[in-house]
Amino acid sequence: MNATPWTATVLTIFPEMFPGPLAHSLAGKAMSDGLWRLSAVDIRDFANDKHRTVDDSPFGGGPGMVMRPDVIDRAIAGTDAPGPIICLSPRGRRLDQIRVGELASGPGVRLVCGRFEGIDQRVIEAHGIEEVSLGDFVLSGGEPAAITLIDACVRLLPGVIGDAATLDEESFQRGLLEYPHYTRPQEWQGHSVPDVLLSGHHENIRRWRMEEAERATRERRPDLWERYLAREGRDKRQVGERS
Ligand code: SAH
Repeated sequence: MNATPWTATVLTIFPEMFPGPLAHSLAGKAMSDGLWRLSAVDIRDFANDKHRTVDDSPFGGGPGMVMRPDVIDRAIAGTDAPGPIICLSPRGRRLDQIRVGELASGPGVRLVCGRFEGIDQRVIEAHGIEEVSLGDFVLSGGEPAAITLIDACVRLLPGVIGDAATLDEESFQRGLLEYPHYTRPQEWQGHSVPDVLLSGHHENIRRWRMEEAERATRERRPDLWERYLAREGRDKRQVGERS
């Protein structure tokens, strides 16, 4: 096994928020098994006044405060950590499973969590920091976004999920949403489960699941569906449009 496990290093003014949910369930078990590790660095340790100030008012006016470039720069320089530096920001490129997979296959990530209105742009550019967003909504800070990104990476690390086949069929793995799931009871409030799932006919089940995955993607996520079609070719488009 690798000498150094996958490492998440989080730069934050709220180090006490970590590991938080990451200490539980799958990620927590994997952490205690030594499959990955986490270090939370307090950005305030790199301030240089007695109030440990990390922010100041924005040039150009407007509401809120901005995280100072000099403090963030010292926090980055003072933290020896593997992997790319990523800043969580609603201005960033939206995170997807492909990027998660790339990050999980590297040595780790160093995540800078914004607070207030965000981080001075100069330090982002000076370090060539990749800006990553979770989606088109605004959180109050980068910490919940960092926890989410780490969680998504950790479950892909070798050995974290016992049955690796689980990962193959998941949403986004093939560019599709996943098919729907059903379990016992077989009858529930007058609703049965689709007959094919009780048939024991593996090829029919596989085909039904594939069709359901394609249908869900076509109906719910036209953006993903277009990309999938571009990859799979015209045949699927005709099938999709006929039904
Ligand atoms: N004024 C900013 C929002 C700041 S929210 C704007 O309008 O763009 C404060 C911090 O929360 C950000 O610096 C970022 O680190 C984090 N954050 C907020 N929304 C996020 C999102 N969708 N994805 C990732 N991080 C986010």
